[in-house]
Amino acid sequence: TPSDGRSNAEVGADDASVVFHSWSKQGGLKPLPLAGGRGTEVWDHDGNHYLDFSTQLVFTNMGHQHPKIIAGITEQLNTLATVAPAHGNATRAEAARLILKRAPEGFEKVFFTAGGADANENAIRMARLVTGRDKVLSRYRSYHGNTGAAIVATGDWRRIPNEYATGHVHFFGPFLYRSEFWASSPEEECARALHHLERTVQAEGPESIAAVLLESVPGTAGIMVPPPGYLSGVRAICDRYGITLILDEVMAGFGRTGEWFAFDAHDVRPDLITFAKGVNSGYVPVGGVIISSEIAHAFDDRVFPGGLTYSGHPLAAGSIVATQRAMAEEGAVENAKRIGADVLGPGLAELGAKHDVIGEVRGTGVFWALELVADRETREPLPATTVARLKSDIIGRGLLPFATDNRIHVVPPINVSDDEVARALAIYDEAFTAFRP
Ligand code: PLP
Repeated sequence: TPSDGRSNAEVGADDASVVFHSWSKQGGLKPLPLAGGRGTEVWDHDGNHYLDFSTQLVFTNMGHQHPKIIAGITEQLNTLATVAPAHGNATRAEAARLILKRAPEGFEKVFFTAGGADANENAIRMARLVTGRDKVLSRYRSYHGNTGAAIVATGDWRRIPNEYATGHVHFFGPFLYRSEFWASSPEEECARALHHLERTVQAEGPESIAAVLLESVPGTAGIMVPPPGYLSGVRAICDRYGITLILDEVMAGFGRTGEWFAFDAHDVRPDLITFAKGVNSGYVPVGGVIISSEIAHAFDDRVFPGGLTYSGHPLAAGSIVATQRAMAEEGAVENAKRIGADVLGPGLAELGAKHDVIGEVRGTGVFWALELVADRETREPLPATTVARLKSDIIGRGLLPFATDNRIHVVPPINVSDDEVARALAIYDEAFTAFRP
């Protein structure tokens, strides 16, 4: 139900008149105001209900207003709403312990940040401090956050107006549908992408490289699940040249791929793992770095020159504890895996077979991309204006989609039900059937 009697138009215009919005021209903005939500559903001020298959910015992994997460935050709010990072705090320690439980052997500590960008920022800083080297290698087609080093590590257009940090080098990762390596099979793409990375390392000078920073499964850039052997091949290159491997699990982590961490499916052990978003379903801003014992102990007798007022904020910690417990109790990660393999993946593949505008369907768990093309043969991307039209049509049919570049990402909560997936598939199908390029 609408919250305060005002219409979408009124609330949207009011918001845009005083709120400066991310990644946007500020003139003429008409944000869709959301009044409330529950589970996979949200509603606006005009009383329209939507299936949230965007999970906002791919973070409400346990859906909206999950009662156990709200209770966890409320309990902490009523106990101690805030505390400085230098104090000890029982809820914070429990949050760290529950996160470490999901990390591989040999991970020992968690450094909490306020979100994903500063998680990557601090992981890069740790890698630079422990190696005594400067450069960071990351992929074109990636997003790592909107702060000093994280935005310059980013591979997409958002890096270019923000290129003030130094020491960043980019390379191409595997992406068979738009191969940079003239490959025609996943094996070829994998071998050639690894060769390209190793040559980049050699040409840059291994002694200057602190870290390779990768999204385990690149998210906003297009949900490209790496071919078998790629991530373990990157690990081997890092080992050969003494380079720290940082895996960014900000979007892919905590169930999104049907695993606790996306890299769990890839036989690889990173040195540092960054997280945010799904760890607490995004109810309170938080992120962090999961630190291997080796790197954690490198700071036993040496000051770590970094910190944040809200590092380990108790409300964030309370939300993490409740989310992690709820995910385990409700088998939500297993649900994501099952639904991806049995319901959502096959359903999207059917849509791909039926509608010519879908050039490729790819993904895993509840992390899928529909690559939209103007021409299936040439794979020419569908223009952004056409995707925007399709997006509004889908919203009009009662589903909030995640659209970016020439893609629609299908990213429901990890605890989405079979029935909700069936309803969403029907909406996508209707929209593609009505679609005229
Ligand atoms: N890393 C990845 C893979 C992301 O998808 C994002 C955000 O979308 C970030 C980092 C940055 O996180 P935040 O926006 O919380 O700073």
